[in-house]
Amino acid sequence: MIKNEFFPPIKEVFFSCEALEEIECPHMLDEFREGVLQEVKGRRWASENKCAYCGGEFKGGLIKKCSVCGKKKSY
Ligand SMILES: [Zn+2]
Repeated sequence: MIKNEFFPPIKEVFFSCEALEEIECPHMLDEFREGVLQEVKGRRWASENKCAYCGGEFKGGLIKKCSVCGKKKSY
């Protein structure tokens, strides 16, 4: 197995990019782009203590649930 510590997963490269939404790369598959965007959004929402799926506010006591989509807090 090849060690690829010098080649981080390409997604990780995009997570630090603030302008990902504005990038138009003809070589980037739409599916891949959407997937990365979704994950970037999720991380941003999580860092703001919001639902990682839709950005909604959490409600509830011990078990936090999203007030918008109803999903449990995943982080
Ligand atoms: Zn939600």
